[in-house]
Amino acid sequence: MNYSSLLLQIENQLLSLNKKGLKYINIGALPDFELKSVIDGLEEMISIENGISEGTCKTKNKPSEKSEKYEESPKENTEIGINPEPADITDQNKVLNLKQQNITQTFAQIAKPQDSAKKINSLSELFEKYKACQKCALGKTRKNLVFGRGLSNPPVMFIGEGPGADEDTQGEPFVGRAGRLLTKMISAIGIERDDVYITNIVKCRPPDNRNPNPAEISCCLPIIKQQIEILNPKLIVTLGNIPTKTLIPDVPGITKARGKIKQYEKWTVLPTFHPSYLLRNRSAMPQAWEDFKKITEFTFNSTQG
Ligand code: SF4
Repeated sequence: MNYSSLLLQIENQLLSLNKKGLKYINIGALPDFELKSVIDGLEEMISIENGISEGTCKTKNKPSEKSEKYEESPKENTEIGINPEPADITDQNKVLNLKQQNITQTFAQIAKPQDSAKKINSLSELFEKYKACQKCALGKTRKNLVFGRGLSNPPVMFIGEGPGADEDTQGEPFVGRAGRLLTKMISAIGIERDDVYITNIVKCRPPDNRNPNPAEISCCLPIIKQQIEILNPKLIVTLGNIPTKTLIPDVPGITKARGKIKQYEKWTVLPTFHPSYLLRNRSAMPQAWEDFKKITEFTFNSTQG
């Protein structure tokens, strides 16, 4: 069986499970994802494997198309690169025999970055390399690629999920409501926003503020990895589930992981809530504040509060 057929089998099995009511899946190397996003990611990888978009990571991610897909007939699926379900896949016994563990391992393997990143030594070089990036479909809908902003040798680096509407318009990370809250929280621990580095896991805005899907994260992963290498911060603060689990796949959800120091390769990581979550859940602010107070301990060897 070739790789593409294997992916297609997994996708069909996931679709069957989705019809049976499974909504979320833990795919091991990446965060818990809505199952439909995972299926879209698989669809993209099948396209790549089939050479439809060789050298790119194109995605089909219009939400309207995505929701319609599950109502489509097998014939319509053919038009978007998915063959009609083979008889053996629709067999209920085979669906029931699906081992989630197998999916986890397979998806973790295929979600590895597809770009063998060549060593780049400065942010400006890195930006030049990716400024016109079209490796995934987010590149088509973005207004601006939001690369990151801040010091080139920052004590602390903040990583969010992806740009929102304001960031997309302005080309800067965290400039909307959530960004203003982040700025206030940074100031409250005695650090200026200009004295840190702020970026996101994916550099282009996912439409309708949805989460980036696994394939988009995988496409964009070489950029954040190289940014971390170049910036070499004393501390990385991950904001929310997606950046946390992208860097450290085996952590629990952010509610449990927050405030606990983790390690990503040689870097110290402090997970905390995303400011957007805090805007919706003011009761989580005291916990976030506790986390933020730890930032100064790990960056300036002093506590403030
Ligand atoms: S999200 Fe990342 S991989 Fe996708 S087009 Fe933008 S820069 Fe490229």
